[in-house]
Amino acid sequence: MDKKMDTKKGFTTTILHSDRLLKPEFGALHQPVHTAVTWGYEDVNGLIDVFQNKTKGYAYSRQGNPTVAALEHKLTQMENGMSTVAFSTGMAAITATIVSLLKKDDHIIASSYLFGNSRSIMQTLSEIGVQISYVDATSVENIQKEHTSNTKMVFVETIANPATQIAQLDEIGNFCSENKIIYVVDNTMTSPYLFKPINVKASLVINSLTKYIGGHGNALGGSVTDTGLYDWAGFPNIAAILRGQIKPEMLGITQIRKRGLRDGGGTLSPEAAHSISVGAETLALRLERTSSNALLLANFLNEHLLVKKVNYPGLADHPQHKIASELFNGYGGLMSFELDDKIDAVTFLNRLKVVIKSSNLGDTRSLAIPVAKTIFHELGADRRKEMGIEDSLIRLSVGIEDINDLLEDFTHAFN
Ligand SMILES: *Cc1c(COP(=O)(O)O)cnc(C)c1O
Repeated sequence: MDKKMDTKKGFTTTILHSDRLLKPEFGALHQPVHTAVTWGYEDVNGLIDVFQNKTKGYAYSRQGNPTVAALEHKLTQMENGMSTVAFSTGMAAITATIVSLLKKDDHIIASSYLFGNSRSIMQTLSEIGVQISYVDATSVENIQKEHTSNTKMVFVETIANPATQIAQLDEIGNFCSENKIIYVVDNTMTSPYLFKPINVKASLVINSLTKYIGGHGNALGGSVTDTGLYDWAGFPNIAAILRGQIKPEMLGITQIRKRGLRDGGGTLSPEAAHSISVGAETLALRLERTSSNALLLANFLNEHLLVKKVNYPGLADHPQHKIASELFNGYGGLMSFELDDKIDAVTFLNRLKVVIKSSNLGDTRSLAIPVAKTIFHELGADRRKEMGIEDSLIRLSVGIEDINDLLEDFTHAFN
């Protein structure tokens, strides 16, 4: 293949060749793990230029590192975006994005089905003056109703965890772009292989790299990708010092890098960046296997007499099955189900031997957790009811095991 790969290559080819094309030393096929905290310059003008954004280079690893930069470049290509900043965790990426772009009295409209910790950080931010409205984002009308003159951001996820509601992503994108609202889509559950939020006019795309992109449950990470669609020059909260110094399209992501990463300090380690980068090489393969395993399991559970309900976007009776089929390249690995009242969820889970009882998701291994008693315990019964979370609900993150072993594990647990 030629020195410079054209941009038309497929998703996996692009990931596999991304590091090499950045020309690391000795023709290495992976970007090396650069553990240096700081970089030295023969001529101090080089250091000055880096500080003044006049040349690309590295000064201090909290705000930039070559190993992390290679991953950021890869993520930008995966999302068809313009620029990416990586963080130590998905939560660091979310917090940094909001804190670096919004001010007191700015208003966010957020999905009421947000990931628990995202919901919790929104609550914390509301206590220091950001206004938040929570809406059922499966319909754009609920967002339109909450729109006010100080609405600066809409924040949704693609597939909600654990009940798998899907936001009306395309219509929300139209609404945000008409009203110049920053549209943030947390793409963690779909990952850029199943869905590219740029296609529904997202401004910023969040990924928890800990989940499908890293994929092996061995590294934490997060990212925010600017799709290039939002007009940052017209955004009032851009710091005066950046205007004029930075290209208009780079204003938003630069402010996130400076305020959110450099000042906030949630830096991704180069070792974790390397693990995530290697994991990302097989994202497509893993998600194809995960999605096909999940669909077979969802059908099996759906037909089982001891299961009351299965939430999985791939099932024809899922309320947003149509939009999932239109927008996503597969239905992913997340599902949840309610057991019949006759069965005790704890006993049932303890009988599973292949499926691991664990709180993560997006791993190569299948992981299950009783939701009400664990990840949504802090919410309390009322909020759980609002979110459609029954006490008997089990969340299942389907892995890439051989499907017969998974089916056998469940069959045995039911018997
Ligand atoms: C896990 C998760 C996060 C947080 O990511 P961490 O890497 O665990 O901090 C954010 N959003 C969604 C949808 C998630 O599933």
